[in-house]
Amino acid sequence: MTDRYAVIGNPIEQSKSPLIHTAFAQVTGQDIAYTKVLGPLGGFATAVDAFRADGGKGMNVTAPFKLDAFAYATDLAPSAQMAGAVNAMKFEGDRVYAENFDGVGLVRDVVHNLACPIAGKRVLVLGAGVATRGALLPMLAQSSAELVIVHRTVAKAEELAALGRQHQSGQVLVQGLGYDQLQGRQFDVVFNATSASLTAELPPLTASVFAKDALAYELAYGKGLTPFLKLAQQAGVTRLADGVGMLAEQAAEAFLWWRGVRPETQGVIRQLTVPLV
Ligand code: NDP
Repeated sequence: MTDRYAVIGNPIEQSKSPLIHTAFAQVTGQDIAYTKVLGPLGGFATAVDAFRADGGKGMNVTAPFKLDAFAYATDLAPSAQMAGAVNAMKFEGDRVYAENFDGVGLVRDVVHNLACPIAGKRVLVLGAGVATRGALLPMLAQSSAELVIVHRTVAKAEELAALGRQHQSGQVLVQGLGYDQLQGRQFDVVFNATSASLTAELPPLTASVFAKDALAYELAYGKGLTPFLKLAQQAGVTRLADGVGMLAEQAAEAFLWWRGVRPETQGVIRQLTVPLV
């Protein structure tokens, strides 16, 4: 019997998840069907109920439903609790198990695929939204020297930094700052976890934050050279990456969780990569 999975979002046409999971199923020999569900705005629970009633085994969740999925779940993993949002669900009887694999996917892409260890590095994260929240614990687990979260509303950055300090077991210096407080600071890894690139905008960042040999990582994917990556390039940064690897890695984590086997990701990363030009 073919097991059914889907991604739910609105809009959903753009989602690469069916392509990714279908490729994973092929390479691992798993018998699954993976489709897209257009969730009506305000109708998330009804759409998921219908998918479950039809025998669906699990779902990925994308915008704007990650918070609805958080409310819908019966069993939240620590990753989902920390992020305050859910990007993968598994259905077993009346239980809805929920995870957030975005953060672990991001870290795995950087450390494993890009071979850029975070341990001992100075790390800057732009933005304090859902993606940053989800990345907080997996990043702290890497024992960077410092982790600075910067946001256009300082209080939001400080709030997330306090959460990080509260949950970390290591010695990472965690700070929440405003963009104007970055004067004179330099970082080895800079993540753009704002949604600015989706509208071709640039966060109010100065090019001086990039250390020599820094990695500039844009979480958005498929956008080519975004204003953030362009700024990094103009500052002399040669290590540029976008979120295509993060996308593939979070999908691989969900696949492992659902099916008990971790697919290799290089094939889909190659297929989905848009050149950074
Ligand atoms: P959220 O909407 O939760 O957060 C967006 C953040 O960006 C907020 O902190 C917001 O600030 C800030 N922001 C938006 N525009 C600007 C701007 N012009 N200047 C400065 N800050 C700005 O989004 P997510 O956290 O879910 O997503 C963030 C990014 O990560 C997106 O690009 C998304 O595509 C990407 N992403 C990639 C994934 C992948 O698999 N590669 C997975 C998940 C996300 P404010 O609060 O003030 O509005």
